[in-house]
Amino acid sequence: MVIEACGVPHTEVDLIVASQGRRDERHAVDLGWPVQMSVQLETFGVPAPANVLSQAPRLQVRHWSRFVADGHLGKLARNLRLLGLDTVYERDAEDRQLLEIMATENRALLTRDRRLLMHSVVRHGYCPRSAEPEEQTREVLGRFGLTCDSGHLAPYTRCLRCNALLQSVSKSAVLDLLSGEPLTLRYYHEFRRCTGCGRIYWPGTHFGKLDSRLRRLTRCVDLLNPG
Ligand SMILES: [Zn+2]
Repeated sequence: MVIEACGVPHTEVDLIVASQGRRDERHAVDLGWPVQMSVQLETFGVPAPANVLSQAPRLQVRHWSRFVADGHLGKLARNLRLLGLDTVYERDAEDRQLLEIMATENRALLTRDRRLLMHSVVRHGYCPRSAEPEEQTREVLGRFGLTCDSGHLAPYTRCLRCNALLQSVSKSAVLDLLSGEPLTLRYYHEFRRCTGCGRIYWPGTHFGKLDSRLRRLTRCVDLLNPG
């Protein structure tokens, strides 16, 4: 594809407008459209301006909430999990494995490797511009429409370590596991256990100090009532 030959992954192109002669002859074309010398092409990133061929379907999805992150984006993956977003991350995963997980589990690929995003099997993906994890997180939330009222953000519902869902458990169920933490058992009464790796979470240590990060990431006040 000509656009990718210029270093722009197809996942970053939301609209391509072909025009020939007068402006009212403009029409949208897809990524596989054969280039013709007499036709001028304009490309628009995500999201394409609403006032440009507003009836034309856009090439990229606007909303997505399942991800696979490459091995350099561990802190981003952890932030997304903190927000309750289903995010696969394995530090040593090879490109081939990332693409396989992306395709078989219908996830959007998050990577700063633009060449990987250019792979033809990639349907949905994003390259964070920032090198800073909190800014990367805000970028991903913005790109995929994961706003406070989107219904997709559910802080403290997913394990930060393994991505599995957390389940509320009674205090009696964790007494043995936390026998070395007498102060925790004295002062906390709500516990959650990871349905994947079994890690125990409770408000004081694991959740409370993350509230400020959540506020910085989303600026959503109402989300901080995990219930
Ligand atoms: Zn876990």
